[in-house]
Amino acid sequence: DNLVKVPFTALIKKMFEFMYPRFTEANIIVQLKIKEDVYIEGDSSQIKQVLLNILVNAVEELSEWKGERKIEVSLIEKNSHVELSICNNGNPIPEYLLENVFQPFVTTKSLGTGLGLSVCKQIVEKHNGTIEVKSKEEFTCFTITFPIAE
Ligand code: ADP
Ligand code: MG
Repeated sequence: DNLVKVPFTALIKKMFEFMYPRFTEANIIVQLKIKEDVYIEGDSSQIKQVLLNILVNAVEELSEWKGERKIEVSLIEKNSHVELSICNNGNPIPEYLLENVFQPFVTTKSLGTGLGLSVCKQIVEKHNGTIEVKSKEEFTCFTITFPIAE
C-alpha cells in the first residue's frame, strides 16, 4: 500500500470536479459545505475509489428520480476525526436492505454488481475509519469518518 499524507479536502473537491459532467447531464444540483483543509493518512487512489463508488450510486439513484435532484456534501472536523457526509435525495434504500448494503453482491440494480459499497467499507476500515448509511423519507446519507493526520 501507498500510505502517505492525503489532502482529503482537495481530493474531495477534485472528485466533484471529475464528476461534474455527470451531475449536470443528470440535472443534479450539488451543494458542497467544505471549509477546512484536512489531511488524512492513507492511499489516495483508494480514497478516491470510495468517493467515486458513493457518488456513482447517488447519480444512478437520482437518474431514476422524477423530482428535483440534489446531492449535499459536508465535511466537518470532530476532535481527532474528520466526518464526511454525502447525501442524496431519491428513493430511499429499502429498510430490509439497509443492514446489508455493505455486504458484497447486495444490489437492487438489474446490472449491478453489488460490490461498490463493500469495497468502500473495506477501504475505509483499512484506513481506521468508519462508514454508515442512513436512509429514509426520500433521503440517503453516507457518513464516513477518518482519523486526521498530524
Ligand atoms: P451496485 O451499485 O452495483 O448495486 P453498491 O454496493 O454500490 O452496488 O450498492 C448496493 C445497493 O445499495 C444498490 O443496489 C442500491 O440498492 C443501494 N444504494 C446504494 N447507494 C444508494 C443511494 N445513494 N441511494 C439509494 N440506494 C442506494
Ligand atoms: Mg454501486
